[in-house]
Parts: sequence; structure tokens; C-alpha cells
Amino acid sequence: MQIAEISPVRDSGRPAAKPAKTIEQLQGIGVDNSLVLIVEDEPAIAQILEAYLLRDGFRTVRAGDGEIALQHHAHLKPDLVLLDVRLPKLDGFDVLARLRQTGSTPVIMVTAIADDIDRLSGLRLGADDYVVKPFNPQEVVARVKAVLRRTRGEHANVIKRFGTIEVDFTSYTAFVTSDERRTHLSLTLSEFRILAYMIRHPTQAFARADILDACLPESDALVRTVDTHISNLRRKLEELGQNGFFPAVRGIGYRFSDPR
Ligand code: CA
Repeated sequence: MQIAEISPVRDSGRPAAKPAKTIEQLQGIGVDNSLVLIVEDEPAIAQILEAYLLRDGFRTVRAGDGEIALQHHAHLKPDLVLLDVRLPKLDGFDVLARLRQTGSTPVIMVTAIADDIDRLSGLRLGADDYVVKPFNPQEVVARVKAVLRRTRGEHANVIKRFGTIEVDFTSYTAFVTSDERRTHLSLTLSEFRILAYMIRHPTQAFARADILDACLPESDALVRTVDTHISNLRRKLEELGQNGFFPAVRGIGYRFSDPR
């Protein structure tokens, strides 16, 4: 069993100096942060795809053959799979077939072989899109975004609800609905980003360093800054009668809500 390395990763403490990001990239990180599984046996190609995806605010994980791809998919539940066709162990078609037996994770197939292209374009194999090598990496990133938008649907991409809490990712607003009253939750930008990031996977435990990376990438804050923002979020929710959100997860960090 291979250990999956999800990028970007940092242990703790001070973040490394980072290049300035564009507003779009900052918004992308706060709003999307999707995990893309790159299945590719040629390291140079995998590295290029990874670099372009990271630059656009995606998280990535790599698999060099079909078996590792299935393991990573089962354990890490990526939002999308970029799947090379010609792979060691299980080829891309086999991996796709297995993925389709268990769910509907979006898949973009990648190939250079004319026979594969015929098969991909001529048959309904269940892939969401395909790209042909040699490709322009920016075009691949654009396809990834398009497939994610399409498969999530407009609504799911804009508003997320969990229990009494509602987050609108486009207007950067959040609301609490209780006793049939809908109240605006007044948050700082950092607090909003943390809420928006964690509510997408409401019961998942997030490391403080990951929250820092995803939500406060432009600051040189320490991980304990996350504690301050979380405690402010908790207080603001409690003031609206919403208790029990953002519980600490010992040894890790926080989750948005305990499983119900
Ligand atoms: Ca290959």
C-alpha cells in the first residue's frame, strides 16, 4: 500500500514564502479547492499537470499505475480523476470500468493513441471528457473546471447548506436559518473562507496547517491563527443559538460538525 502524498502539504509552523496570487486564484482556493487524482505513469507529464492544477488552486494527488489509482480513489475520494489510458497493471479503460461500478466521480481520459481515441469518441464508456497528447496543460485545466462545473450543477456550486447553515460562494455571504428566521452571519473574509472551505466536507477532520494553507495562503500567519478564527466563528454562531459547530479534533485540528 503506497502512502498518498497530497500537495500542497506542510507539517506545521510558519508557512514557506509563496508567490503572490491573483484575486481569481485566491477566490478559487477559498471556494473550490477540489482534489484531482492524476493517474499517469510518465512522471514528467504528471508533474506538468500537477504544476498547472496547483497554480489554479486545486489540490492534487498522483498515481503511477492503475492499481494505485483505485486505492487512492477509494481512500481519498477525489473530486475528479485525470486518467491516462496506457498504464502499468490495470489500463485506463479497466480503471474507468471499476470507477463506474462504484460511483460517478468525474473522469477525464488522457491518451496519445489513435485507437484509444476512436474507442473513447465512438463508445459511451462513461468518461466525462477526453484529451489527446500532446496537450496544452492550460487546456487540460480548463477542461477540468468545465467538467467539475457541469457535473456539480450550477446550484450545487453556488450554495451549500448543512443543517441550519447556508453559504453562498458567489456573494461571499452566509446565513443561519432557525425558527423559520433567516439571519445574515456577519463574518470577516478569513472567517468566511474557513467556513466555506470546511462546510464542503462537513464531517471531515481538517489539520490546522491545511486550513491555513487553503484559507489564509497570502498571510504569514502561524497555525494558531486558525484557532482564533475558529473560536470567533464558534462565538458568532453561538450568538445566533447555533451550538456545537467547529469541534476540535484531538491531535488533528477541527471539523465543521460532528457526524449526526
Ligand atoms: Ca502512459
